[in-house]
Amino acid sequence: MEPLTEAEIRASFVNCSKGEAKGLTLPARTEEIPWPDLDFLAWRDPRAVQRAYLVTRHDSGVVGLSLRATQPPKSRLRSNMCGLCMTTHGLVDVALFSARRAGQSGKDGNTLGLYVCANLRCCDYIRGKLKPETPQPRETVTLDERIARLEAKLHRFVDQVLGARV
Ligand SMILES: [Zn+2]
Repeated sequence: MEPLTEAEIRASFVNCSKGEAKGLTLPARTEEIPWPDLDFLAWRDPRAVQRAYLVTRHDSGVVGLSLRATQPPKSRLRSNMCGLCMTTHGLVDVALFSARRAGQSGKDGNTLGLYVCANLRCCDYIRGKLKPETPQPRETVTLDERIARLEAKLHRFVDQVLGARV
């Protein structure tokens, strides 16, 4: 993705308070982030590990989501596959990330959840920069196809958080 500045990242959040967006800890200095290898920027808050953030370029501009991570109880875990990069994990390596919906709907307490790699490093998994612990089902898709699939899933989730009719 095209690099973003710190100011763009902080201004992008659609589902948290301005105070939270202003105060959150970025994963690294923006000039140290490997932008060309990313489809989205996502990280766990080092000071509050249940908090996570995801920022991407979307039709409507840069969109940032504030997320809450939960480790679902095993009995209730419906999937151990990441809903973005489709990497299959052992149960501890996938987490349920919930996003408060944007606008009034979120203020009313509505959230949306997605199972994602617990470390949020989907972009590294699809590029083979990071190997999952678990053997993966065989797939004959190219890197470009994987990226397109991840982007489609991500943008659908962002649209849903934004309240677009999809
Ligand atoms: Zn993933």
